[in-house]
Amino acid sequence: MTAPAQAGPAKPEPVPTPETRPFWEGCAAGELRIQRCTSCDRYVFYPRPLCPHCGAGDLEWVTSDGTATLHSYVISHRPAPGFAGDVPYVIAVVELPEGVRMMTNLVNVDPDPDRLPLDLPLRVVFQQRGAVSLPLFEPAGEAR
Ligand SMILES: [Zn+2]
Repeated sequence: MTAPAQAGPAKPEPVPTPETRPFWEGCAAGELRIQRCTSCDRYVFYPRPLCPHCGAGDLEWVTSDGTATLHSYVISHRPAPGFAGDVPYVIAVVELPEGVRMMTNLVNVDPDPDRLPLDLPLRVVFQQRGAVSLPLFEPAGEAR
């Protein structure tokens, strides 16, 4: 690993674990993968070995379509370590069509509440950071 050119700490990189590896492999392939319980038919995110709804251990991986809607967000003006060059930036909770929610960052949008109505349609974009590809979201269907 090489040090970043700018001063200050580097952005943290997620480290895949056995449970999360299929998710990160999906991101690397340009796919947003979540789990589905084959016992109760509900969707699960974040990745885990047991269904949080019924306790079954029969979770399969499925590919979501990459769309989401904006559920909640904050605009951060105080950067986390490594994010000084990005402020202000948007930390968001987005909801996938399957009903699961994911914490992420919004990109390609002004960090302005007037541009960020709740339920705003979004689509996933993947950004490489070190060894992993991160799922971020941008407004869908908007000319930029
Ligand atoms: Zn279940």
